[in-house]
Amino acid sequence: MKWKEQLLQLTPYQPGKSIDEVKKQYGLDKIIKLASNENPFGCSEKVVEALNNAPLTFPLYPDGYATELRTAVAEHLKVNEEQLIFGNGSDEIIQMISRSLLGKGTNTIMAERTFPQYKHNAIVEGAEIREVPLINGEHDLDNMLASMDENTSVVWICNPNNPTGHYIPEHQLLSFLEKVPKDVLVVLDEAYCEYVDASDYCESISLLQLFPNLIILRTFSKIYGLASLRIGYGISLPNTIRALEPVREPFNVNRAAQAAAIAAINDRSYVEQCKQKNREGLELFYHFCMENKLECYPSQGNFLLIDFKTDGNEVFQYLLERGYIVRSGKALGFPTSVRVTVGSKEQNEGVMKVMGDYLTYKASCLESAKAQ
Ligand SMILES: *Cc1c(COP(=O)(O)O)cnc(C)c1O
Repeated sequence: MKWKEQLLQLTPYQPGKSIDEVKKQYGLDKIIKLASNENPFGCSEKVVEALNNAPLTFPLYPDGYATELRTAVAEHLKVNEEQLIFGNGSDEIIQMISRSLLGKGTNTIMAERTFPQYKHNAIVEGAEIREVPLINGEHDLDNMLASMDENTSVVWICNPNNPTGHYIPEHQLLSFLEKVPKDVLVVLDEAYCEYVDASDYCESISLLQLFPNLIILRTFSKIYGLASLRIGYGISLPNTIRALEPVREPFNVNRAAQAAAIAAINDRSYVEQCKQKNREGLELFYHFCMENKLECYPSQGNFLLIDFKTDGNEVFQYLLERGYIVRSGKALGFPTSVRVTVGSKEQNEGVMKVMGDYLTYKASCLESAKAQ
């Protein structure tokens, strides 16, 4: 078969072991998953209500224009309905952008390390990838600008950045946007924006009028707690949305996702509560890191990258065998770290206890090695 040759260098996404598999393998009866930055509190009660009351019209295709959801999101963001595009997760918007703008002869710029789907999709499309190393967990915007040339089509900015949790202060983002050539699409992935509490985080929607080459990505998978329903969206000027629409599959967002997302976006107090509890959780982790002399980046998201200065896979495995699934930093480009999602109070205390046990175990290994 004549597969695109770039596909040969890709491996499919490796999902973590399922909760049931881990239970069986290690004889555990409770597993806490803190690996994919899902909301530990689930979704709003209003969502459950909306889904229970939704008519069961399984045989009919969903509304391909997501009309009601479109109205709800447009009102919430104070944008026009023509400024929105919905996807089967924001992952699908990343795919649509890549499909529309990337190919042989183009290049695309992103941080090294950031959300892996930008690179993955760019490879599928055969574009040249230019990765610009982070500095202390932060985007190196100057170097990203310097890496652009006349063949640059898309630049990806993840704000806050996954996996480091860093955010870009408003003045830096503005000065970057002013310098990006007008024919380069800037993708601002704000999957975690609802968690941010930095006062100089950019209110990006208002930038769309100033920078027509900007598209903002948001998702219902994180703070809204709807990861399994797969729904996210892009916000840009109508011209950009119109250009992307032809690559969108006609019925890409299912009916349940649309109904759930309307209820979710209208329950502001739920979002506020989750944000608050996330802050409290982050503080606990910072405290833990300080007490144990572990380094971590300050995070504006619902996750934390903690450097154990040892093999990240080993920390991952130790936690896994004791019922906590986190992400090893190995696959994320931080081989001595793990990324942990901030959970509920009880989950946070539980995982920190086991992390503490790991450190004690590690210290005793070193002691006995010395003694020999
Ligand atoms: C989780 C995540 C997404 C993907 O969200 P979906 O809407 O579930 O596809 C996109 N970008 C970043 C940075 C993420 O962490």
